Amino acid sequence: MRRGAKIMFVLATILLVLAAAYVILRPNMCEADDVAAPTADRPETALTGPVAPASPRTPLTGDAAIAAKICAGDMADLPASLFGHQKFADGSAGLVAAPAGFNMSNCPAMQGDMASGLAAMLRAARAEAPAVAGAMGGVSCYRGISYQRGLYCRSPNLAARGYAGQAYWVAPPGYSEHATGRAIDFGDRSRTDCNVSPCFAATSVGRWLAANAARFGFRLSFPKDNAAGVAHEPWHYYYVGGYVASVPASVGDAANDAASAPSPPAPDVIAPAVPDTAAPTETAAPQI
Ligand SMILES: [Zn+2]
Repeated sequence: MRRGAKIMFVLATILLVLAAAYVILRPNMCEADDVAAPTADRPETALTGPVAPASPRTPLTGDAAIAAKICAGDMADLPASLFGHQKFADGSAGLVAAPAGFNMSNCPAMQGDMASGLAAMLRAARAEAPAVAGAMGGVSCYRGISYQRGLYCRSPNLAARGYAGQAYWVAPPGYSEHATGRAIDFGDRSRTDCNVSPCFAATSVGRWLAANAARFGFRLSFPKDNAAGVAHEPWHYYYVGGYVASVPASVGDAANDAASAPSPPAPDVIAPAVPDTAAPTETAAPQI
């Protein structure tokens, strides 16, 4: 009897301690579900999405529920748009090698027609601004669904941003232009610290692209205050083709073959200022 009473006393004490710990820790657990406070470079609009997806007490609805489904690997019945991003089909079947010397880290392949347009643009840049041509490269081009899933779903930032906030910075899998093979995150070899970063806009490559890329069929996908409500990305261009205006005569016919069948890029497109072995920066790895 005495031993039984002792056991009961110990059990009661443990229960009391557990109850006290729950009461003390519970407020902190709630805070962990709050989204991060807005900062200067993170507009509030980017952070008004759902709370951390791991929260079991907040059922996800709408686009957030769809994003959670996608992150779980279910790509069936996806809507045409998600968090302002359009749905894109995978274009891996039409990939060719990037123009020689263009790849800086994750741009070994792209659509054939874009490779031709890019080759024309690089030749023009080499004629008009040799230093810019030497510095210009591709940080990221074709990205498959699984790779994009890693960027969007497995980012350490997802818990704090929520699915909507994450989509402000990174397209969900199935909704990235990179999956088509017709998007390029351009980089500047002379300013690798600005690759996939807002300061890319002020680099020589960023400024040249802003003034000239449209001549060769490249359009900036996410300008400032874009309709999609996505972060400004001065480095991300999508190839729309149809570029015929203002192409210098020296560029040659390659500038007008966007509508033709995919063809391999010219072998002598660009002489990089530095070897391709330049190490990609941390910021260069993932982006939308
Ligand atoms: Zn991009």
